[in-house]
Amino acid sequence: MRYRIYGKVSSSTENFVKCVSNQSSSLDTKTSQYVYTPQCPSYSNLLNSSVHNPRWINSVNQRPKFIVAPTNNDQIQAAITCARAHGFGIRVLSGGHDYEGRFYRSKSRFVLIDLVNLNSITINIDDETAWVQAGATVGELYYNIANKSKTHAFPAGLYPSVGVGGQFSGGGIGTLMRKYGLASDNILDAKIMNVEGEVLDRESMGKDLFWAIRGGAGPASASYLRGGSGSSEFLP
Ligand SMILES: Cc1cc2nc3c(=O)[nH]c(=O)nc-3n(C[C@H](O)[C@H](O)[C@H](O)COP(=O)(O)OP(=O)(O)OC[C@H]3O[C@@H](n4cnc5c(N)ncnc54)[C@H](O)[C@@H]3O)c2cc1C
Repeated sequence: MRYRIYGKVSSSTENFVKCVSNQSSSLDTKTSQYVYTPQCPSYSNLLNSSVHNPRWINSVNQRPKFIVAPTNNDQIQAAITCARAHGFGIRVLSGGHDYEGRFYRSKSRFVLIDLVNLNSITINIDDETAWVQAGATVGELYYNIANKSKTHAFPAGLYPSVGVGGQFSGGGIGTLMRKYGLASDNILDAKIMNVEGEVLDRESMGKDLFWAIRGGAGPASASYLRGGSGSSEFLP
């Protein structure tokens, strides 16, 4: 597949981009549409728009060698496989509100998987559940629920731009907590991708891992794709 590269790039850059292109079965999407090298004009905007604490952008920490902003699971799979093949670490970004900047802070070279394009929300009011992709924000979830029902809500955090990926995997404290618990208490199912690129759901990941991803913070060796939430009835 042909792909566009920007400026003067090293062979390791070319190799990574080629690898992603070969691994991904999304033939209709060019890698230049979702793989960003530091030479790409939009690389800095994409990174800076998510960094809420610029103190970690310094000479000690490396910036991502690549930002991959996938639109489907194949592209995430390709990014994971190629990062491992080329000796890069992997960081995952949902809403970018990590206090410690863990998604853009590393002393060794890494690939950032930015889930900004994976933000779909499907609400089923009849069975009071929702599937939320990890790149959505809690504000988008509340808005989508409110569009479907005036008597339903989901008990997550207060700040609307916090990401579902980081918050649901880390707990999720909000105003409905005393009656309905944390966001993570209301997760019925979840899909994650492990380092082998396999997608696991609640049943296939097993009860220990399902327990760990609901409160143990962003999984270290898995990318949290979608959370299926119980949508609690809201009593004012
Ligand atoms: C202004 C502000 C207000 C806040 N308000 C609340 C609140 O009301 N209630 C509350 O409970 N918390 C609150 N928090 C804390 C917030 O929930 C956590 O910092 C949360 O981890 C941020 O998630 P994120 O997706 O926005 O951040 P990110 O920085 O994108 O992610 C946080 C961590 O999780 C990892 N991660 C994110 N997504 C994934 C994924 N899909 N797969 C694997 N790992 C992933 C990241 O690599 C990073 O290490 C607030 C934080 C801020 C800065």
